[in-house]
Amino acid sequence: MSTTPAPLPERPMPTPTRESQPYWDGLREGRFMLQHCASCGKVRHYPRPVCPHCFSMESEFKEAPLGGTIHAWTVCHHPFNFFFKAQAPYIVALVDMDAGVRVNAPLHGVDAASLALGQKVRLQFEPVSKDVTLPFFVREG
Ligand SMILES: [Zn+2]
Repeated sequence: MSTTPAPLPERPMPTPTRESQPYWDGLREGRFMLQHCASCGKVRHYPRPVCPHCFSMESEFKEAPLGGTIHAWTVCHHPFNFFFKAQAPYIVALVDMDAGVRVNAPLHGVDAASLALGQKVRLQFEPVSKDVTLPFFVREG
C-alpha cells in the first residue's frame, strides 16, 4: 500500500477591490503605493473610499519610500490557517512607515530575540502568483 503525501495547504490570497487595486498593482511592480486624499492631502492605509480626516471621496495613489521602524511584533506559533501553520513559527511586524502610515507584514530573516522596538526595517516584495505580490519586511543594517 502506498501513501501519497498530503497536498500543501492553499495560501489565502487577498481580494483586490476598486479602492485597493492601485495598491496591489504597485506591489506587483515593486512599488509601495499609498492613497492620498485629493482634498486634504493626508495619507491613509489600508486603501478605502472615504478620507477619515475630511470625508472626501477623492483620492490619488503616490509611490512611498520603503523604510520604517518597528512599532510592535509578534511571533506566530499557532496560526489557525493550515497554510500559515506550515510556516510557523514566523514573525509578523507592525511597522511605522516613514511615509506616515502603519503596515503589518511578515518580518523575514531575523531572530525574534534580537528584535527591539524602533529598529529600522525595509519593505520588500514577494511575488506569490502571477497577479499577486505581497509585502514583507527585512531589518536594515
Ligand atoms: Zn481628506
